Amino acid sequence: MKVRTRFAPSPTGFMHIGNLRTALYSYLFARHYGGEFILRIEDTDRERYVEGAVDLVYRTLETVGFKIDESPVHGGEVGPYVQSERKNIYIEYAHKLVELGGAYYCFCDKERLESLTDENGNRKYDKHCLSLTKEEVEAKLKAGEPYVIRQNVPASGMTSYEDLVFGTIEIDCADMEDQVLLKSDGMPTYNFANVIDDHLMGITHVTRGMEYLSSTPKYNLLYKSFGWEPPKYIHLPPIMKDAQRKLSKRYGDANFEDFIAKGYLPEAIINYIALLGWSPKGEVEKMDIDTLTELFDVAGINKSGSIFDEVKMKWLNSLYIKELSPERFAELAKPWYDKSVIAGKYDYNKWNALLQSRVEIMQDILDKVKFIEEFGEYDLELYYHKKLKADASVGLVAVKGAIEAIEAMDEFNEELLSEALGAKAEELGMKKGQMLWSVRVAVTGAAVTPGGATEMAGILGKEESLRRLAFSRDLIERKLQNA
Ligand code: GLU
Repeated sequence: MKVRTRFAPSPTGFMHIGNLRTALYSYLFARHYGGEFILRIEDTDRERYVEGAVDLVYRTLETVGFKIDESPVHGGEVGPYVQSERKNIYIEYAHKLVELGGAYYCFCDKERLESLTDENGNRKYDKHCLSLTKEEVEAKLKAGEPYVIRQNVPASGMTSYEDLVFGTIEIDCADMEDQVLLKSDGMPTYNFANVIDDHLMGITHVTRGMEYLSSTPKYNLLYKSFGWEPPKYIHLPPIMKDAQRKLSKRYGDANFEDFIAKGYLPEAIINYIALLGWSPKGEVEKMDIDTLTELFDVAGINKSGSIFDEVKMKWLNSLYIKELSPERFAELAKPWYDKSVIAGKYDYNKWNALLQSRVEIMQDILDKVKFIEEFGEYDLELYYHKKLKADASVGLVAVKGAIEAIEAMDEFNEELLSEALGAKAEELGMKKGQMLWSVRVAVTGAAVTPGGATEMAGILGKEESLRRLAFSRDLIERKLQNA
């Protein structure tokens, strides 16, 4: 039998990392077995519907590069793939289920339902309408009384199923309610629609959050009433914010698009979230989607929640950034340079080589280039280097020498500068290392820079380098005098 899985998001807002991980596992499972992956939009809850959320689902799946076999956009044999367009199907099957004895009409009004609430505020429907005779039901329907259709759950006995991750899940029927399947406006509840759709769409494996673990026996009873084979279930543990709290969509935690906006690469996010709840057999952590597809197995899915660790995701992202072609890095970096203090100044290309190996996420560019504009008074301690035997006095000699050397240059580039500074160091009887160390400090005024003296001066250009060297010369002289 061909494996068919689905991702069935409700369009209620942004794409949470947890939703995306559900989609990913569903996708990897289907692809691993050469099966099909279906996208279904579960929009029956109109109150929670958020405008634009459907487009966001499409956009996200496209950004991460999933190949979708059937969806509202891609079409398919068993559509429509949007639940609000399947209303008639649910109505038809709800009535069929009544005939089969798996459901019944309920005409109870709000007051009656409220009267069933116990002292703890819990309410369980008492099967009142199940005892209506066929004639009574028909009379009420004829009179146009509003009704819902409820599932007829056995009053007692145990029911169980095998979850592929959590093992045997057993529930006492006495703990289940005769829940509403079809609302009075003819809209199905999730509880009903997911069963009808998964069956009619030929879904073989249902992958979803473990909040559905304990409702699944109810769904299986529906399959049984229809005489259908239920799918296999892969329920997933939650993603945690810390040891106590789940990552929450409600509080805006972990929105996929926020990470993209910070300059994470989609392939790195996918790699990271694949590991959030699943462990491959080997030690390797960096895996592209093809490798993930090859290695993915349900046996590696954890039962306990995993803590979302942005530090680790950043680290993985840096590995993907290092692997980009220089052209691709330049393309991705450009909008960040344009937003940074160096916008429109200096040669962006010179920055690329320096930064590609130094940023973890593209947003880091903003900080990494900052020092170049924030040049001013700094501490002479910066000139100190134990191994090189360098300090501010050595720095002063080096900086004066560098000014002479650079002024004498007709053509200015990193290579020529390196030669010129080397020659000047020799002339002054100092080590080239002392010269380069001092010049780097003098042109940046920073302890940590993304490159050495020639790279930094190369980016700044001849004029600006000279201006900064002169500033530094004066600064050292003044501070040494006052010392
Ligand atoms: N629409 C449900 C949700 O977003 C999907 C549950 C399922 O996959 O069955 O939670």
